[in-house]
Amino acid sequence: MAEDKADVLLLGPAMPLIVEGIERFFTLHKLWEAKDRDKLIADLAPRLKAMAGGGGGHAAIEGSFLSKFPKLEMISSFGVGYDHVDAKWCAANGVTVTNTPDVLTEEVADTALGLLLCTVREFPQAERYLRAGKWLGGNYPLTASLRERKAGIVGLGRIGKAIAKRMEAFGLTVAYHNRSKQADVSYSYFPSVVELAKNVDILMVVTPGGAATKNLINAEVLQALGPKGILINIGRGSAVDEAALVKALKDKTIYSAGLDVFADEPRVSKELMDMDNIVLFPHLGSASIHTRQAMGQLVVDNLLAWKAGKPPLTPVPETPWPPKK
Ligand code: NAP
Repeated sequence: MAEDKADVLLLGPAMPLIVEGIERFFTLHKLWEAKDRDKLIADLAPRLKAMAGGGGGHAAIEGSFLSKFPKLEMISSFGVGYDHVDAKWCAANGVTVTNTPDVLTEEVADTALGLLLCTVREFPQAERYLRAGKWLGGNYPLTASLRERKAGIVGLGRIGKAIAKRMEAFGLTVAYHNRSKQADVSYSYFPSVVELAKNVDILMVVTPGGAATKNLINAEVLQALGPKGILINIGRGSAVDEAALVKALKDKTIYSAGLDVFADEPRVSKELMDMDNIVLFPHLGSASIHTRQAMGQLVVDNLLAWKAGKPPLTPVPETPWPPKK
């Protein structure tokens, strides 16, 4: 007898590895391709137990949407950041949320250092200079340097620690700010982000998004970072007050910035686009084939663990296993 496959609702476009992995073991429903989304939701609502999403391409997964599915048990989300899922609602309603931590840590840390070097040494600008034929007219101007700089990491978690390790190898002194002091590191801890900014001249932001970090890097922090200061954001765009950043760059309150994430991505403000003294990456922290495959496999593996009645591999802290129904 053919196996009765459980339904999985995929909320937005996903890489082939995820689509094929889910199709192999489940009955897959693609919400974004449905001719009549409301009908698909109404049909699935009484029986749906699992969803997958993340990686952009769909609306935030809010409690008002999730409450349409009374039997929901599991949301497997792509990416380590899960600020697009109402994890508090899930915790209160016995729904497990999983993300894809660890498998992307080293890749994102590599990107962070690449972005830092590009910003300090102006490598993208220098390459544009060469391609424009300007080298024939003279050397590219001398740039700032990593030498004699102190780095401050805002969000010293898995990725922050991998960045810190690389920064140490580059000869930088590292300090950090989190809400709580980390027991397993000897870097200087600052309970206030403003105090950290006052004491460093590189500020590397690696926090999650969401309400708790919204505009954590504001005008006061940028003022404290000062005219030699370089801001790098590899965490979430919402953590930086973009209007304050544009102003700080224009009036030289800080020296420069390197951004991989933006408040309203993939839309990037014209003011940022028009500045030549900053470096902008299109959110490519984890975007290598190797790492995205590993993340995609973890989305599928979390669903398979759920299907087998086993503990999820990587539940988010708000929804520890077993769920409270
Ligand atoms: P993690 O291990 O959970 O680390 C997050 C760190 O941020 C923790 O040390 C946490 O410490 C700190 N933090 C959380 N809320 C804070 C707040 N309100 N104020 C100050 N510090 C706060 O997560 P991870 O794996 O390192 O990932 C970090 C984030 O990087 C993700 O959530 C995601 O947003 C971003 N990310 C970006 C890319 C990219 O492509 N650019 C790729 C992957 C991840 P406390 O709890 O003690 O405050």
